[in-house]
Amino acid sequence: MPNSGDSKPLATDAGAVIRTPDAASLVAAGDAIRAGHLIAFPTETVYGLGADATNGEAVARIFAAKGRPSFNPLIVHVATVAEAETLGIFSEAARRLAAAFWPGPLTIVVNRQPGIPISDLVSAGLPSLALRMPDHAIAQALLAAAGRPLAAPSANRSGHVSATSAAHVAGDLGAAVSMILDGGATRHGLESTVVDATGDTLALLRPGAITAEAIESVTRQPLIRPNADPAVPASPGQLQSHYAPAARMRLDAETVSDGEALLSFGPDVPVTDAAQINLSARGDLVEAAANLFAALRALDATGAATIAVMPIPAHGLGEAINDRLKRAAAPR
Ligand code: AMP
Ligand code: MG
Repeated sequence: MPNSGDSKPLATDAGAVIRTPDAASLVAAGDAIRAGHLIAFPTETVYGLGADATNGEAVARIFAAKGRPSFNPLIVHVATVAEAETLGIFSEAARRLAAAFWPGPLTIVVNRQPGIPISDLVSAGLPSLALRMPDHAIAQALLAAAGRPLAAPSANRSGHVSATSAAHVAGDLGAAVSMILDGGATRHGLESTVVDATGDTLALLRPGAITAEAIESVTRQPLIRPNADPAVPASPGQLQSHYAPAARMRLDAETVSDGEALLSFGPDVPVTDAAQINLSARGDLVEAAANLFAALRALDATGAATIAVMPIPAHGLGEAINDRLKRAAAPR
């Protein structure tokens, strides 16, 4: 790591601060992560938009910054294989993959260890977790400075191409990030390969920088390609695409009926004896997003037949919250 001691913040047109990674800027970036801010950083694949994976509101800010209209699960970046194993349950095959390809552009989806502090929002309420140990000195230095696992999707606005340079991140995300660590152009410029290792078989969820053949040569078992032929029925154990509670969901509820639990929002809520969780009593959508999946789970666990959901504003993160609620309410 260069330690010139004179990394000058470079204010860009868009207002983002691009900094040369050195001792001072890395300490500042680590502090910013622990304070719940977003830091863009280079990896060997593309630039990541990083937040403390244990802080739900910080993770919610990722979705707000990207303008994602839905909560899709994010990759959690870790410093070591040992750290990964404290967060996820590694099968023998998953262990072999980590040993062969980490650090490197392979993301391994495993089941969560019970009781880990990783925000529910990181995996969009799923019981699984996508983990990766990046092969990049600056990414590793940020992980060390933050001392936290980093949730980090690609550092671009939703629907735009992944950012492969600091200037690209600045142009796309601007002031939404508190700092961009400049590592020059990324090496692969292609996203990581994502493998589902939650079941007995391994499945390719996203092709990427590491080929399916390279993976098969290590595991000596076929890598199932769930997306290869849409006519073929989904293989057993294939990941559910989103979390949905067992209870029915009634959206835009203004009142609560017998047998219902209430998912409320904002300061003005109906007076009721029903089990109730307020996503954000102060009407804050970042707080609401951070609480969403845990709240759904807790209300579902009350055994209520239906969860009545108060209207959630449609702007900002409200779009992604409403998208999740609509999916959870869809007939199944
Ligand atoms: P990005 O955040 O843009 O790098 O994309 C992350 C990729 O990892 C997406 O293709 C996600 O669907 C996938 N992913 C992340 N977490 C999970 C998970 N828990 N289960 C399945 N796929 C995941
Ligand atoms: Mg992306």
